[in-house]
Amino acid sequence: MKLLAALFLLVQTSQAFATDLVFDLDWTLIYSTRAASAESNPEGIVRYQDEIYRFSDEAAKVILTLHRTPGMRISFFSGGDHARNEFVIEKLYEEINRLNGTPNQTLKPFRVGSADDLRVLSSDPLKRFSERHKKPLRRLIPDIDLTDAILIDDSDFADAGEEKNLLRILDTLDDIPDFSSNEWKTAGLQELPKNRTDWSLERQKLVWVLGVVTEAKRLTQNTGVTFTEAVNQMTRNSLDAPITRDLPSYKAQVEKGLKALNPRCDDRLK
Ligand SMILES: [Mg+2]
Repeated sequence: MKLLAALFLLVQTSQAFATDLVFDLDWTLIYSTRAASAESNPEGIVRYQDEIYRFSDEAAKVILTLHRTPGMRISFFSGGDHARNEFVIEKLYEEINRLNGTPNQTLKPFRVGSADDLRVLSSDPLKRFSERHKKPLRRLIPDIDLTDAILIDDSDFADAGEEKNLLRILDTLDDIPDFSSNEWKTAGLQELPKNRTDWSLERQKLVWVLGVVTEAKRLTQNTGVTFTEAVNQMTRNSLDAPITRDLPSYKAQVEKGLKALNPRCDDRLK
């Protein structure tokens, strides 16, 4: 029995870091924002050189919840330069570790990929950045298991052979921290919400990601489906296109994310 117990532990340990979650930064974890928006609402603002960013809603809590989920490795991959990416991620982890509240356990990202790690497909300036560049997960994490890994990104940066590993966040909007405020209405923004629900669901995009990951993990444990397949089944339609936010299933996934977020954080965030 002792041998069986030891074998069981070994299996558990070898699976301990099986699932790779790789987060994009711009428009996924951070908004580029304006000085007027930062002044009227300074929550989550981070400044780097001349740039002003705001962390997406619940960014630190979502990443912390994922760190606390057994078997998750959290990495980041952004087309920005390395110094900027490291700066933004350092600020994010200051908040994550503050929320975690255990000084002898410092949470850190597994890998950080930057501009130098992109695969360059073309130098045609008429093409979009995401058409000219891809984010090869196998380059960032050589021991990655592609049946158990996703890139969470608002653009199509999936490398050849890694198309199924993309969890696409569609329809990102400009930074509007408070829908009721008048500040944004005359700011000349380009990507505006159609209504309050549209705004609210966009602000909850990371909570949605948490809901999808949590449910996909549950499906993986309860059925024979792989994590990557489960994410695809939940987030793509019959034409293999990403689902849109007006679907009931999208809202149900946001609800799952909220449930995953709150029981784990409530007692520590007071
Ligand atoms: Mg992006």
